[in-house]
Amino acid sequence: MPKPRVIYWFRTDLRLHDSPALAAALALSPEVLYPIWTWDPHYVYRARVGPNRWQYLLDCQNDLSGSITKLNPRSKLLVIREAPQTLFSKLFRAWRITHLVFEKDTDAYAKERDDEVVRLAREAGVQVVVKTGRTLYDPDELVKMNNGKPTMSISQVIAAGKKIGAIPRPIPAPDWLPGLGDTDLGFEQEKPKSEPDVNALQRDGHEASYSALAGPNADFAVPTMEELGLKVATTPHRGGETAALRALDEIIANEEYTATFEKPKTAPTAFEPQSTTLLSPHMHFGSLSCRLFYWRAQDVVDKHKGKASQPPTSLTGQLLFRDMYFGAQAALGFRFGQTYNNPQCRFIPWHLPSKIDTSTGMITGEYQVDSAEAEAHLRRWKEGCTGFPWIDALMRQLKREGWIHHLGRHAVACFLTRGGCYVDWERGAEVFEEWLIDHEAACNIGNWQWLSCTAFFAQFYRCYSPVAFPQKWDKEGNFVRKYVPELARFDKKYIYEPWKAPIADQKKWGCQIRGDGSIMTDGEMEVYPKPMFEFPTRRDICIQGMKNAYHVGLYGNSPQVLDGSWRRL
Ligand code: FAD
Repeated sequence: MPKPRVIYWFRTDLRLHDSPALAAALALSPEVLYPIWTWDPHYVYRARVGPNRWQYLLDCQNDLSGSITKLNPRSKLLVIREAPQTLFSKLFRAWRITHLVFEKDTDAYAKERDDEVVRLAREAGVQVVVKTGRTLYDPDELVKMNNGKPTMSISQVIAAGKKIGAIPRPIPAPDWLPGLGDTDLGFEQEKPKSEPDVNALQRDGHEASYSALAGPNADFAVPTMEELGLKVATTPHRGGETAALRALDEIIANEEYTATFEKPKTAPTAFEPQSTTLLSPHMHFGSLSCRLFYWRAQDVVDKHKGKASQPPTSLTGQLLFRDMYFGAQAALGFRFGQTYNNPQCRFIPWHLPSKIDTSTGMITGEYQVDSAEAEAHLRRWKEGCTGFPWIDALMRQLKREGWIHHLGRHAVACFLTRGGCYVDWERGAEVFEEWLIDHEAACNIGNWQWLSCTAFFAQFYRCYSPVAFPQKWDKEGNFVRKYVPELARFDKKYIYEPWKAPIADQKKWGCQIRGDGSIMTDGEMEVYPKPMFEFPTRRDICIQGMKNAYHVGLYGNSPQVLDGSWRRL
């Protein structure tokens, strides 16, 4: 009986350690194993990926390829520039494949893609092996044990998890891999049939060059940023399994930190080092196994019983939140990522409701959608020139480095939606999608819904003040001084409210507070914008809008939302 010829398809799991899918591939005792990555046009064009995340991905691929070659000099990661839906049938034929193995992906688009690939494999007589390894629990199993419903709270995850059983212990990395064999790796590569509208893509901020990704690459090498026509990354954070395991070792070695970690007590203003683990980008690319992270943390917790923190605030609790969002997404599919037609997402008529009866506090008449104002607020928020230094510092850190602390994400998300601008959470989620190096569809969408009080969380009257909240963590304003350097010389008394500083002091400290962010300098003097609105007034208007929306009580799948008649309510 001839030995299996296996394609191992890397996607969400750019690692060799604790990979149930890779272990399943090796358990087949293959004659050859082709470790491949395929460029999916969906990732390149439809997902918004900024240069920082591109760089991180290439780091992961380079590191993985090097590790594969260390285990077998006759192997490496084969990077193929073609859509899986057109590629696989050709690979199955050209490489005489008997098995295709990959890690399960429950993202909405991935499910559709994988169904199609499985269909192609069946047609070609290729056996498909799929294993869960991206989350602590299989999201579909979690949903099943939650009575078929999306997991919308951490207690539901814990209860469903108990029914599934103990989280498996991690398995070690293999110490050997089969090689690529002697078969000619050549096959006919083609461009996708419908070429994307490059101009439209570039307008949308997609920068990867079409030809660089779609063209044939005979050596199957990991491309460079330059080849892809991408801007130079500005993030200091670098990817790859080697870096991920090193970072985890360092965190776990600090047993006190690991055992007593409590998320609400970590400072969003801390940098170099940050106050949380910064393992999220490794988790996103699968260069770190979540089960390894979980068990190494749990073992420390068990050793320090009595003083150790517990879920949901503990380190392992954070991983359960991650599973919660994966469970919600697995149950809702594409609907999870939007309000429209989403039965779990409250409908809020975003943009400022401008007609408020001040005696009753009720909105009267039609909602007045001032979209020009909302667009201006969104633009200034994105560019980090709202005039609120705390918000601007966070948004600039996000754009430059691709990562911000969880409570920083809270602050900017609350500010854009229900606690300031009253702009739709979907617009904010798009910006995060482009700039985060840890962008994870399930976590990004779910957390934006949480912060906008459209799902998961409902206490809309609890808003983050862009002045009082950061003061609690950083009285000196060092975080603002780093990311909004034009304010670096301001006295700490004014660091979160620079518009209150006397003009003479502004001049002395080298920065005038005026304008809307369109002017950066005036001669020798730097210029920082005035705040785009008076925060307390705006917050009250937003809370009133939320109160009314909650009172009306529509969800994304309400008939009035689906047919647009909510405007007449
Ligand atoms: P730690 O506090 O050290 O936590 C350890 C791990 O637990 C993280 O690496 C992450 O994998 C997981 N985790 C922690 N908090 C959460 C959470 N609230 N939800 C889901 N998983 C969590 N996280 C992402 O991984 N990708 C995203 O795209 C993303 N978008 C977000 C958008 C908004 C508006 C908000 C408020 C949060 C978002 N988060 C996202 C969740 C969270 O902010 C990050 O996971 C966390 O800040 C990453 O830093 P860390 O690795 O130091 O986390």
